[in-house]
Amino acid sequence: MNSAFLTFNAGSSSLKFAVFDGGETALEPRLKGLIAGLGGGVPAFSAKDATGVPLDAGALGALGAASDHEAVIALLLPWLAAQLGDVPLLAVGHRVVHGGQYYAGPTRVTPEVITRLAGLEPLAPLHQPHNVAAIRAVAKWQPDTPQIACFDTSFHRTQDRLAQLFALPRDLSDEGILRYGFHGLSYDYIAGALPEHLGVQADGRVIVAHLGNGSSMCAMKDRKSRATTMGFTALDGLMMGRRCGALDPGVVLYLMQEKGMSANEVAELLYKQSGLLGVSELSNDMQVLQASDSPHAKEAIALFCYRAASSLAGLLPAIGGLDALVFTAGIGENSALVRKLICEQLAWLGIVLDDAANEAGQSTISAASSKLRVLVIPTNEERVVADASRALIA
Ligand code: ADP
Repeated sequence: MNSAFLTFNAGSSSLKFAVFDGGETALEPRLKGLIAGLGGGVPAFSAKDATGVPLDAGALGALGAASDHEAVIALLLPWLAAQLGDVPLLAVGHRVVHGGQYYAGPTRVTPEVITRLAGLEPLAPLHQPHNVAAIRAVAKWQPDTPQIACFDTSFHRTQDRLAQLFALPRDLSDEGILRYGFHGLSYDYIAGALPEHLGVQADGRVIVAHLGNGSSMCAMKDRKSRATTMGFTALDGLMMGRRCGALDPGVVLYLMQEKGMSANEVAELLYKQSGLLGVSELSNDMQVLQASDSPHAKEAIALFCYRAASSLAGLLPAIGGLDALVFTAGIGENSALVRKLICEQLAWLGIVLDDAANEAGQSTISAASSKLRVLVIPTNEERVVADASRALIA
């Protein structure tokens, strides 16, 4: 490897990173890793090279329980420098959750861009501060290396105005209180992978269900976003690990006016104590819930699936029907149970699952008799960031 691209994907409780060969296009990373359990959990570092061989964690092997994103980045940058040795870094690409109305595509980071992105932190408090912190840390570490910000909001800028509007007074929409949508890098990757799986039908009516800790759906036509379940913030839409998803706004008013909760308390409740965790009173982790006998855990899974099926139905007017459904991300790729429960509630659309294929997690899980194709496609947000960084540098 004569040169390299580095990518960072700072999530709410994790930091993913990857090194791509600067001389090759669109290949798997030379190295990739994950630090999970940040912000309250038990931090765990793992990294492997292109052949899957685990890499020595060094100082990252003994992360304290209280380690946050900033503390971890401070240790990770020297670890990455040691892995790279003399190989020059061409650019560092970042997944950034919110680009607001400013950015319809990847952009090169300048001090002005950092200021704008920091200004969007209140709109994505679980992610944006970590994205900005990673950009600032890299700027200090490698001031001359270009940094590229790739936004989860950009993919959705193809939506019709109606899909982006709230029914609020016009002046609020004009000032940018709109449905932005998120998980765009994941949807971008899946849109690119669709032709391989669906042939010409890839340009038909497709809904992608990105089900992870954060969950959303995107309705695509011509492989472009036409509608999505997340809105102004990543709180709207589907039920998630800790987030409530769509909620009657009257509940927020009631919590504040009648129960005397402050805005910060309500934010904490809706972002961190709701969703699978709040309903199950056990965990935000789908695997833990599936392994539990607790009736509350079962109800949390049932609600997650019911809300997913009903949200999917709400997206259909934007694309006028459905030719294929794609599951992706941690839950979508791995939970046969969740896929089955969601598809059972969509039988009226003509979906018939092939149970054995679903259990085996094959790429096509619909039966031959199904009216529409149901697929499982692993997402790869890092690849989208690396490709965009490469294109922008070129
Ligand atoms: P993030 O939004 O943090 O990137 P992921 O896409 O990694 O989240 O998804 C994490 C979720 O995927 C967790 O709820 C986890 O339990 C779930 N998951 C991972 N593997 C499995 C599995 N084999 N069965 C069920 N759920 C799984």
